[in-house]
Amino acid sequence: MQGKKQMFGTNGVRGVIGEMMTPTLVLKIGAALGSMRRGTIAVGRDTRTSGEALTHALKAGLLMTGCDVVDMGILPTPALQYIIKTNRFDGGAMITASHNPPEYNGVKIIEADGTEMSDEEIILLEGRFFAEEFDVTGWDGVGSESAGPERLEEYIDAIVNHFPEGIGEGMTVVVDPGSGPAALTTPIILSRMGCRVHTINARLDGTFPGRLPEPTPEGLQPLSEMVLATGADFGVAHDGDADRAVFVDSKGRYIEENYEFGLIEDYVCAKNSGGLVVTPVATSRLIRDIAEKHGCTIDYTPVGSIYVARRMIKLIAEGAKVSFGGEGNGGLIYPDHQFCRDGGMTAAMMVAVLASHNGRKLAEIVDELPAYHLIKEKHHTTDPASLVHAVEEAFAKETIEKIDGVKIIRENAWALVRASGTEPMIRIMIEAKDPAVADAMYREIMAVATEETPGT
Ligand code: MG
Repeated sequence: MQGKKQMFGTNGVRGVIGEMMTPTLVLKIGAALGSMRRGTIAVGRDTRTSGEALTHALKAGLLMTGCDVVDMGILPTPALQYIIKTNRFDGGAMITASHNPPEYNGVKIIEADGTEMSDEEIILLEGRFFAEEFDVTGWDGVGSESAGPERLEEYIDAIVNHFPEGIGEGMTVVVDPGSGPAALTTPIILSRMGCRVHTINARLDGTFPGRLPEPTPEGLQPLSEMVLATGADFGVAHDGDADRAVFVDSKGRYIEENYEFGLIEDYVCAKNSGGLVVTPVATSRLIRDIAEKHGCTIDYTPVGSIYVARRMIKLIAEGAKVSFGGEGNGGLIYPDHQFCRDGGMTAAMMVAVLASHNGRKLAEIVDELPAYHLIKEKHHTTDPASLVHAVEEAFAKETIEKIDGVKIIRENAWALVRASGTEPMIRIMIEAKDPAVADAMYREIMAVATEETPGT
């Protein structure tokens, strides 16, 4: 790969409004995108207070470089991705900062096939952005704008039609869209599947009065209480742009996202009989256990949903059978729906999971999954790359995988050490069934890390 991304991260560019993130910046991103992708571009936004202003800036950049714009208004990122793909638009952009706090906003760039723009193309876009190399049109080439919010129905239909009619009948669910765009989709999807739906934080509100856009166990306490109070079968919550979904079970307990992945994987793999499950190296071994139970094979990628999505597309193009993909953070990808994380589809899929268990409680099903102990830590250092290398040297006699950072694989545990892309630190993950084994492995790695980092 030529060069390196400077402004965009793994899922778009993000910053604090009035500081790094300004209408001027977004105008230039729009102009750069419009200079690269001619034709009709669909734009959308989440519910942040700055969303409308930034959308206007984005559209100005696109229109002045000759693109036509379809403004979808407020909608989930996966809904925009689905609409771009099925309406054969030439690309898109979503104004969102996903799970970041309210003062943030940002832009995700979407390709015509509904996937997020690849690193290679983002580097070209950034090149145009920094050089201000924009193909601004004359008076007779300026694009025109139309609105398209009625297309949101297409996304809802696609998910509902994926399942047998009335599959959710007899189930009660509570939906917490976190004042975000899923308020327009997930309650409707689950109702149309036959569920009785209660909602909390379901009014579109960029001040996020109920909870922050990141769905944490603490923030979802009111959801848990409502699940218990209504005797619901489960509760589902989304992040700020609803590409992720997380759950609380019938006892009101937050389901750790690797377990959520495992529950849905178990259902999807049982239906598909075999095939590949694509996931980053940082995902729990639980995902491998469940794949193997169904004769499926794991294919590991670097950390980042875009790498999972692109790997799935590549494997399918090569003739492989790919059954499922996703990350251990509630971002799951369904290849027979679309190649991006989809929180609405994940909410719907949990209804199907529960329906397949013949009336058993979700809490019981969760408790039957094998328990793993996960340690997640950060370690600050001025030179993350050489520290990762030092860890690799220190454990060179063991089984090592270098898909992203260094993964040390043992019979009863694994450890992943990666350099942060944005901060001077390394990220450390260790997982084992036995907490004592995980702790011991963590101490081994920290012994190397502290030796290599003077002054710690
Ligand atoms: Mg998100």
